[in-house]
Amino acid sequence: MAVEPSDTQIHRYAIGEIMEIYREFKFDAAHSLPHLSSDHKCGNLHGHTFTVIVYLSGPAGKETGWVMDYGEIKSICEPVINQLDHSCLNDIPGLENPTSETIAVWLWNSIKPKIPGLSMVEVKETAATGCRYTG
Ligand SMILES: [Zn+2]
Repeated sequence: MAVEPSDTQIHRYAIGEIMEIYREFKFDAAHSLPHLSSDHKCGNLHGHTFTVIVYLSGPAGKETGWVMDYGEIKSICEPVINQLDHSCLNDIPGLENPTSETIAVWLWNSIKPKIPGLSMVEVKETAATGCRYTG
């Protein structure tokens, strides 16, 4: 019979291990991409429900057993992402050409000072398309 590790052992094994955790957010916004030929449909104003996934890496804490509290990630990231929600992204400074790529960099620059362990920002325009930025 296999020996099953106790919860205490599993916790101990996690301490100090570098792990990547993530939290997903959604926001709705309109945009148009201004540098396209006139026949490209993405030049027209249109909207998406964007998905943002914020990734952090770091050691699992000795006492907590986690890299960071998901609730703390939410409390830091939600006010940043709320700046984009129900907006026309083109009107936001730094997002005059609001591609997934520029949105990912904008989010990175806004979140990184508050979460030093930030390792990647993923922005998805649709289920099939998106951008991953690692700084
Ligand atoms: Zn679009």
